Amino acid sequence: MRATRKEGCISRVCACCNQSFYIGKDNISDAIYYDKKTYHSNCFIDKQVKSFAPKEIKNLKTMPKKDQLLEYGIDIQKYKNGRRYIQNGKDKIIHNFNEAKKKRYEEQLSDFHNRINDITNSILNSEEFIQLKKNSYNHFLHSIEKQCVYDFILEVYDLNIIPTNIWKKITEIYSGTYKGMSIGIPPEHLLDMWKRKIDMLNSVAERNEVKGIKMSADQRLNYDLSILVNKYDSYLKWIEKQKIIASEKEIEKSENIVGKSIGYTTSNKPEKNDSDDISALVDDIFG
Ligand SMILES: [Zn+2]
Repeated sequence: MRATRKEGCISRVCACCNQSFYIGKDNISDAIYYDKKTYHSNCFIDKQVKSFAPKEIKNLKTMPKKDQLLEYGIDIQKYKNGRRYIQNGKDKIIHNFNEAKKKRYEEQLSDFHNRINDITNSILNSEEFIQLKKNSYNHFLHSIEKQCVYDFILEVYDLNIIPTNIWKKITEIYSGTYKGMSIGIPPEHLLDMWKRKIDMLNSVAERNEVKGIKMSADQRLNYDLSILVNKYDSYLKWIEKQKIIASEKEIEKSENIVGKSIGYTTSNKPEKNDSDDISALVDDIFG
């Protein structure tokens, strides 16, 4: 159902706490992708920290507080009924045994709690974790971008679901395996092109309708996708051009700064936001 989704976000269940949560572009770092599972970053770090904990604590769902030690660490019952060497049931032996065990755990746990900050920091700063974060970021970003394409289609083509054959085609477009393609189109490029071309695509559809060609949503999506795939080359060239324009703007800006600092400006034009300038240029777009 559309109502339960959050736009531009993917929904995942944390493999540690089993809570479902949304991941969008502005909170990607809250999630970690490890061994094909998704975790809250905090849950994942907690799990890593816990692997340094005394044995009895490792298996717990949540990390015990210092004063909860006795609840978790000691199982007096087990020793009363169990072990051979205290089988004769002498209360004093059992008592001493449990006291010594309690003390050992208290020390271990207290030592562990004292080291938690250091352990956490060394995990966070490890090469392995930094790499994992990067990989997770790319993984989620890719999924979010695909979700954005999905949301865009539902909204613009007024659909409740996307037909399987269309979704299959889009997947082939991403991977570049669709017929006649030499390279794949990443989701963010497809979406950007589509947004920039949607007015054109709508007017093509209108013209077709006037001519008596009425397409189903399915046909229209197929038709529009073929147009977009064909335009990808010119879109890439256009992007390159925008990069050049943007870097020229940068150079001009720094020249102006230098000019100003010596009391001279190369241009009398009022300063504008660069990104506005660029987006005005980009709207007149690839062919
Ligand atoms: Zn969690």
